[in-house]
Amino acid sequence: MSYQRPKGTNDILPGESDNWLFIEETARLLFNDYQYQEIRTPIFEHYEVIARSVGDTTDIVSKEMYDFYDKGDRHVTLRPEGTAPVVRAFVENKLFGPEYQKPYKAFYMGPMFRYERPQKGRLRQFHQIGVEALGSENPTLDVETMSMAMDYFKQLGLKNIRLVINSLGDKETRQNYRQALIDYLLPHENELSEDSKRRLHENPLRVLDSKDKKDQKFVTDAPSILDYLSPYAKEYFEQVTKTLDHLGTPYEIDHRMVRGLDYYMHTIFEIMSDAPGMGSQSTICAGGRYDGLVEELGGPQTPGIGFAMGEERILMTLAQEDVLIPVAKQLDAYVVGIGALTNIESLKIVQSIRNFGFSADRDFMDRKAKAQFKSADKAGAKLILTLGEAELENGTINVKSSATRAEKTFPLTEIYHHFDEIYDEMMTPVFD
Ligand code: ATP
Ligand code: MG
Repeated sequence: MSYQRPKGTNDILPGESDNWLFIEETARLLFNDYQYQEIRTPIFEHYEVIARSVGDTTDIVSKEMYDFYDKGDRHVTLRPEGTAPVVRAFVENKLFGPEYQKPYKAFYMGPMFRYERPQKGRLRQFHQIGVEALGSENPTLDVETMSMAMDYFKQLGLKNIRLVINSLGDKETRQNYRQALIDYLLPHENELSEDSKRRLHENPLRVLDSKDKKDQKFVTDAPSILDYLSPYAKEYFEQVTKTLDHLGTPYEIDHRMVRGLDYYMHTIFEIMSDAPGMGSQSTICAGGRYDGLVEELGGPQTPGIGFAMGEERILMTLAQEDVLIPVAKQLDAYVVGIGALTNIESLKIVQSIRNFGFSADRDFMDRKAKAQFKSADKAGAKLILTLGEAELENGTINVKSSATRAEKTFPLTEIYHHFDEIYDEMMTPVFD
């Protein structure tokens, strides 16, 4: 009997996890510069929290939820995305109160769950890094948010990325456009994919999001939402594009872009990777403004804007663009113990070195000296300390620096009391 991980999940193994750490730490540092703070919400939520905010007719809620009834018969679901949980926490913890800075800026990172057909860059347990800024309707905040995402990808070292924006307008815009879209699509209803037939009646904007080839030609000629913007929505969108122009941030407008979640209004955006091999999974960041969501979850009217990035897709893009990820792998000291009698003393030595704040390792497999030196070399150990049974008897140890090639014997007590000084001495090149 052997077991396999569930379909659509991945084991992130040591070595690979260095890459994850790199993209996550880069995000933490950059987002802090923009005054975002980390929020950690539960991995599961009440089903209603997600259904209400994401929308019953979306693919996420209607097809992709990992929901179940717990032993207390509560309907819960693994979280499929981060915005609804953050907004739920915002309302529940009254983070809109006067004691908090506005806009309230929070970021998150972690696993999300969607029952999808797994493929490259599309998993059932995947990971997102996302941000939310709550409490301001200033269009320059939209631009700050998009700029932060673009800054992030630049910091990671990505070159082939593109910012694409659109406006979904306000309620009035949506109503007018919805009707125009129905009028346009209805005569072609029988030619649409099954999914789109359903969407046409439930949520016609979502037809534009269809990945089905059957729907593509209708999507291409669909009326543009930008022609239906209300005066306020039009002015808002103009402020956004004007600000992007002022900052010199390149962008494209795609009037057919919609988002898979129902709560978006006004500015929406995606960042696409043009690296080869991304296929239809080339969207690495998606976000926008949601101005009704806090109220929907029982809080005071509060505008919000945010984005979410797929970590698997970011890592794919980095690999496709051959970006070298810096690894912090290093070992300060390796203790080679020769002979069974050195076993206990070797552990005392590595522990002592670690207590000085250095990294240290030793052999636990009773291997011969030669194999241990090989391990030290492979780990890139800066100092190699060799303890044989004779040294143990004399209370000494041989220290060799692989950086300076210097070699010297020290009393063991020196290691225990002054390893930091020995390290400095052995690592300093000597010129003569
Ligand atoms: P798509 O159209 O690719 O299905 P989406 O509109 O469902 O994406 P969002 O809900 O906006 O995606 O999520 C934001 C980002 O999270 C996406 O742009 C993508 O990078 C990532 N993402 C979404 N779903 C998955 C998944 N199943 N596996 C891996 N990454 C994902
Ligand atoms: Mg999706």
